[in-house]
Formats: sequence, C-alpha cells, structure tokens
Amino acid sequence: MARILTGIQSTGRPHLGNILGAILPAVKMSNDDQNDSFLFIADMHSITQIKNSEELKSNTYAVASAWLAFGLDPTKTVFYRQSDIPECTELAWYLNCFFPYQRLKLSHSFKDKVNRLGDVNSGLFVYPMLMAADILLYDAERVPVGRDQLQHLEMTRDVASRINHKYKDVFIMPEPILQKESMLIPGTDGKKMSKSSNNVIDVFSDVKTLKKVINKNIITDTIPLEKPKNTDTSIVYALYKLLAKPEEAELMASRLKEGGYGWGHAKKELLSLIIERFKEPREKFNYYLDHQDEVDEILSNGAKKARIIASSTLSRVRKKIGL
Ligand code: ATP
Ligand code: MG
Repeated sequence: MARILTGIQSTGRPHLGNILGAILPAVKMSNDDQNDSFLFIADMHSITQIKNSEELKSNTYAVASAWLAFGLDPTKTVFYRQSDIPECTELAWYLNCFFPYQRLKLSHSFKDKVNRLGDVNSGLFVYPMLMAADILLYDAERVPVGRDQLQHLEMTRDVASRINHKYKDVFIMPEPILQKESMLIPGTDGKKMSKSSNNVIDVFSDVKTLKKVINKNIITDTIPLEKPKNTDTSIVYALYKLLAKPEEAELMASRLKEGGYGWGHAKKELLSLIIERFKEPREKFNYYLDHQDEVDEILSNGAKKARIIASSTLSRVRKKIGL
C-alpha cells in the first residue's frame, strides 16, 4: 500500500481539461484499494494569486463539489482543505530555514510568474517550501505531478534530505509519478485548455451557456456545408472524439469526410454528448453547491484525519530540530 498525495489549486471552476486530465485519473487512483490516498484543496497556495475573499471561498466550494461530483469517495480518500491544517505553515517555516535562498531563486515557475503576473509577492517565491510541507507532513510516498511541477518535487526531496542528513530519519522521501502529457485537452481555440487562456469548456454551466460557448467559441474552418471536411485539424471533432464511444466518433468522422454535414451539426452532437455524458456529475455538482454545509462537513472530517498524521509528524520534527 502506497501513500499518494495530490493537491489541487482553487483558482477557478474546474473545466473539461482539468476533469479529463486530472480529476478522473486521480479519482480512479484514489478508489484503488492498493493506495492510501490524500487529496487536498490548496487554498493557501491560491492566496498567492487571489485577493478576494468571496472568490477564494467560492472557488474552494466549486473545486470540492467538482471532485465529489466525479466520484471522489471521502471514506476512501482523506479529502481536506489545506488551510484547515495549521501544522502545514509551521512546517513550511522550518523547511524555509533549511533551504538555501540561492536554490529557491532557481525555481522555473517563479521566474515564469515574475514575467507574467502583476502581483509578485513573497508567497510566490517561497511557494516550493509550502508545497514541500504539504507533502512531507503526511509522509507521502508517491506524488503524481505534471512536468511543470517536477522541479518543485526535486526541491522537496532536496530539503528533506538536508534535514534527514543533519538529524537522521525525519522525513520519508517522496517519489514523483510523472503524469502522461499525451492527454492534453484542447480548448475552444485549439491551444491547451486552461483557465488563464479564456478557452475553456465549463461542463457545469447551464445548457444555454454551454451551447453558446460551443457554438460561438470553438473555432472552425469556413469550408462550405456540402464539401468534405478535414477531421485531423478540427477542434470540434477532437473534443467529440475524446468523449464519444469509438463507433460514435467514427460515425461523425465519416459524415464529416463525406460532405453535406457541417460544423453546426457536429457542434450540436458535441453539446448533446456533453450533456448526456456528464448528466450525473452536473446534477451532483449543483447539489453540492447548494449544500455547502455538507461539503464543509466532508472537508472537516477529512481535516480531522489529516491532522492526526500532521501533528505527529510535526512533533517529530520539532523534537529533532530542538524545539
Ligand atoms: P492555469 O491556467 O491557472 O494554469 P489550468 O487550467 O492550466 O490553470 P491547473 O490548475 O494548472 O489548470 O491544472 C490543474 C490540473 O489539471 C493539473 O493536473 C493539470 O495538469 C490538469 N490540466 C490543466 N489543463 C489541462 C488540459 N488542457 N488537458 C489536460 N490536463 C489539464
Ligand atoms: Mg496550468
């Protein structure tokens, strides 16, 4: 049995790319009885970017509701809010004191953010040590990460081994599980779907909005209705294929290639498929949004379980370093 830990930022409502690329694979992994899984909403990381209390709160509920809607089972996964675990920031402080400033300066993601963001706060700079605390606090053994997070995991291992070297047997060394990048979901403009690119499909939005986004935002070529279409370059077809059964995708491909079947038809099919495929998660998502007290209870039960481990790790660390 391996302890697996995953964090999710609460920077917005999860979109189709987050669902297919992150939520569904993680839920599958956490429902596997071979894994002892921890999943948290990284709301303290989100403060580096979000400075609006209502927005921060509603994002947390939206993210929690999305995970629950897609089958996260809180009896099998320790599901909690990062900010409910004050041990995490305490550990982050200790880690900061053991990690060289010059090393932190090498963070690719910080350099990238300095170039992109207006608000370059110190929290962004020490972010890797808060992430290291998230992981080391729970003795996590395996951490699924995208390639962009690999350096942060190296920093986690680096700070853990510095402390282990000095005080012996303090931390478990976490291993990254590098996630496949083959499954990059395209956005409505054909580039990687992402919150910050304004090209998302929000499968939780109401049918009218969803229809508008599909019809207006998904870019198509101007080949006339009666002419054959190229499925290889079509964003509508790519999205349809990701969600449809193979025989349904083949049927659409052959219709497009024959001609007489336009992008409007394909978009209509895509809309129906999204509504059909996500019927249950859409209902559940709205249910949880309307029952925030239930979500609070789930998250605070998770926090209770998480804190038992967190406080035991922290007292081990305090003792070792002389506090
Ligand atoms: P941002 O624009 O703020 O970076 P994002 O939409 O890229 O937001 P993240 O919060 O960075 O979303 O990512 C959350 C998770 O979803 C990560 O595991 C990431 O790999 C995955 N993910 C994000 N976008 C896609 C996508 N288009 N296809 C597949 N997986 C994705
Ligand atoms: Mg991203």
